[in-house]
Amino acid sequence: MNSHTLSTSIEYLKGVGPQRGELLKKELSIFTYADLLQHYPFRYIDRTRFYKVNELNADLPAIQIIGRVMSKAVLGEKRTKRLVLEFKDDTGLIELVWFQSIKWFEKNIQTGAVYLIFGKPSVFNGRISISHPEIEPYDPKAKKQGNLTLQPVYSSTEKLKLFNLDTKGIQRLQASLLENQLRDITENIPSYLLEKHQLMDKKQAILNIHFPENTEELAKAQKRLKFEELFFIQLKILRNKLLRSRKFKGVIFEQVGEKFNTFYNEKLPFELTVAQKRVMKEIRQDTQRGIQMNRLLQGDVGSGKTVIALMSMLLAIDNGYQACLMAPTEILAKQHEQSLRSLIDDDFVKIQLLTGSTPKKKRKEIHEQLLSGELNILIGTHALIEDAVQFHRLGLAVIDEQHRFGVQQRAKLWKKSLVPPHVLVMTATPIPRTLAMTLYGDLEVSVIDELPAGRKPIKTVHMYESQRLRMFGFIKEEIAKGRQVYIVYPLIKESEKLDLLYLEAGIEAISLEFPLPEYKISIVHGKLSPAEKEFEMQRFVKGSTQIMVATTVIEVGVNVPNASVMVIENAERFGLAQLHQLRGRVGRGAEQSYCILMSGNNLSNDAKLRLQTMVETNDGFRISEIDLQLRGPGDIEGTQQSGVLDLKLADLAHDQQLLQTARQSVIDIYEEDPDLLKTENALLRTYFEMRNPGISWDKIS
Ligand code: ADP
Ligand code: MG
Repeated sequence: MNSHTLSTSIEYLKGVGPQRGELLKKELSIFTYADLLQHYPFRYIDRTRFYKVNELNADLPAIQIIGRVMSKAVLGEKRTKRLVLEFKDDTGLIELVWFQSIKWFEKNIQTGAVYLIFGKPSVFNGRISISHPEIEPYDPKAKKQGNLTLQPVYSSTEKLKLFNLDTKGIQRLQASLLENQLRDITENIPSYLLEKHQLMDKKQAILNIHFPENTEELAKAQKRLKFEELFFIQLKILRNKLLRSRKFKGVIFEQVGEKFNTFYNEKLPFELTVAQKRVMKEIRQDTQRGIQMNRLLQGDVGSGKTVIALMSMLLAIDNGYQACLMAPTEILAKQHEQSLRSLIDDDFVKIQLLTGSTPKKKRKEIHEQLLSGELNILIGTHALIEDAVQFHRLGLAVIDEQHRFGVQQRAKLWKKSLVPPHVLVMTATPIPRTLAMTLYGDLEVSVIDELPAGRKPIKTVHMYESQRLRMFGFIKEEIAKGRQVYIVYPLIKESEKLDLLYLEAGIEAISLEFPLPEYKISIVHGKLSPAEKEFEMQRFVKGSTQIMVATTVIEVGVNVPNASVMVIENAERFGLAQLHQLRGRVGRGAEQSYCILMSGNNLSNDAKLRLQTMVETNDGFRISEIDLQLRGPGDIEGTQQSGVLDLKLADLAHDQQLLQTARQSVIDIYEEDPDLLKTENALLRTYFEMRNPGISWDKIS
């Protein structure tokens, strides 16, 4: 856009002035003309379509109908006084109601005449009615009835409405701005790209997003502006990636050596799945290119990420480097240690565990072994990134659970080595493709989308309170077979007291139903000290208790293959991602496992859909897609700093195709012209620099 006129402060626009200008800035963050143009309508009222009475329901937005006024009556007294018209077409009858200007409408509307009305249907006393509709006599011969276009609806606030800046008021400002400043809107996408992707030009797009000629033009305008948003985000993300690959040369794992081969041929107790083999190949290729690897490995719980981590670390060791594996909690770190040790012994490669509770003496020993190079693999928590931890030659850092580590912590890891180590980030929370491309667009992404053969899918059922006894009966049967059971309660901060009541009542009911000495129960919740928690968990892990009653603290960290039932209480209060994580605690052994979702009877539509989704599928990727559709990206962890929330039009839940196109387009451009030096790309570079004023084109942000 032309930086001169469109960067003019908003109060100078005709019809704004200092007072409204202040309000626009405060309430809607509209500071300049350009900001106003980017305050896009959030929906449109379709005045091209006419509805029939029998099509109406309370979920519709404002709509228009043609019909005849059958009767008029003024009902009620004082505050309930209202004018009620019966309005009929050939499919049925509704009521039109006015609480204001009763006299005027009573006098001017003729019983028996045909009118065109426009308003939002609602339900009152079980009947459809419309209050305060716009109404005008219907003339079938008139060429244009009503205002035959899509009317934009803008978000506004109560304060702005007091100053006549409701949706209509904002529309007037847009109209006056576009009338005078349209020519100042300049293109920011080169014409060869517009042609290639059949995109409307910028002026037309801005004009049509505010005042669409028809639905087709509106769709084209939306496509163009969404593309633009997604395109420039990708241009930035991939630029960072490019610069990083130039700045950080990666260590090269040239050979597959003795450790890797011995493990693969002699120690690996199973055949890798096709997905695991593919991922191993991707990592292998990444680590011999001389560029630092930054790879995100996504795979559902139980998909076998650990062995990938181990084999990657062996690759590093074979090439003369050390590796580390970092986990978000002490429990998880210990578990990793155990599972690695179950696959290989200390004579083969030397492994140590370092956490906050490692005693001083041991710590010192580890530091020394690390520096001398004697230690091959260091497993641990955040303790790993402390300054005191110095490697001899760190070649690979594996990080489990992306979400809990920030970018800065990753960066700290890199600095542990002159040449930054390759980084493999593993997460069991699958992220929809669109989010991954935006949040982790600068990482390569690998996916294990297949469970090891012979794994029995977990059976999930949804039960109501009335079926509680059946649920208890089922638990008893499973325990009789020697299995163990989780019962989980939600504990959500805002209503902690209420949650604790639920938990206590639940524990009481369970203790009555499952009495000692036949049944033993572990109870774990946030109010316990870490030591108490650990003690209770260990009792369950060792099998000395059969039931673990817990709040969501068990979400991360417990691995008990003998547990075959997961009961989730008040399941309607959990989000999909959490439900899926919890369910992943079972199904780890050879036995058939079950997940029972307990809920109340009154469920919102969203809650129903969540529970239904859980019953229908075990596929974490499908679940994450539905989660994104339900919640939008805002509630998904990690999106806050990513810029996806600044998207004005594009929507990661629905615009996957367009995002893919935009990303590919950027990849192609950088391939040909990494520094945007070609004339045809000059526009992109200028716009990029203008949009990211703090970020120099040549520096990594
Ligand atoms: P996660 O991806 O959740 O970290 P793990 O790596 O802990 O999963 O693997 C879950 C279980 O599956 C482990 O007991 C592991 O040994 C086993 N496993 C991994 N890969 C395979 C495979 N290809 N075939 C059979 N079992 C496997
Ligand atoms: Mg794991």
